[in-house]
Amino acid sequence: MATNRTFTMIKPDAFKAGNSGAILKMIEEAGFKIVAMKATQLTPALAGKFYEVHQERPFYKDLCAYMSSGPIIAAILEKENAVEDFRTLIGATNPANAAEGTIRKIFATSIEANAVHGSDSDENAAIEGSFYFSQTERVG
Ligand code: ADP
Ligand code: MG
Repeated sequence: MATNRTFTMIKPDAFKAGNSGAILKMIEEAGFKIVAMKATQLTPALAGKFYEVHQERPFYKDLCAYMSSGPIIAAILEKENAVEDFRTLIGATNPANAAEGTIRKIFATSIEANAVHGSDSDENAAIEGSFYFSQTERVG
């Protein structure tokens, strides 16, 4: 995957609240192009695998339960400087600390149910995109 890509999930809280369309609109208006996208639901085991870097953290078990609690939207996004620009667009992990106008400030309900995921590096963007999408399920 090219380094001008990032990976996102619209998490169960935002999906369930009917905010997927509004969030995707913000993403597109910020200049990101959707190069793969699907609605799906993780099993607890798959959520555990996706977040395995956090397995020693106290919130890991709750996070896996929450992330498998309902449908999500997974997507690969393309833009110059994608990873960093997307982290700016979504805001801080804890919505209480997120900047005004960011996706998490607008849509997140707690530090856990924080509306969206965004990759933290080019390397993880590629790993996370491949976790969800095969070569034929994405553009390029
Ligand atoms: P980010 O998603 O901003 O990269 P992390 O990678 O640190 O944040 O954490 C992954 C996810 O775990 C967060 O998006 C959030 O859903 C959850 N999380 C992080 N910290 C906490 C916490 N202190 N309590 C509960 N859930 C948390
Ligand atoms: Mg992270």
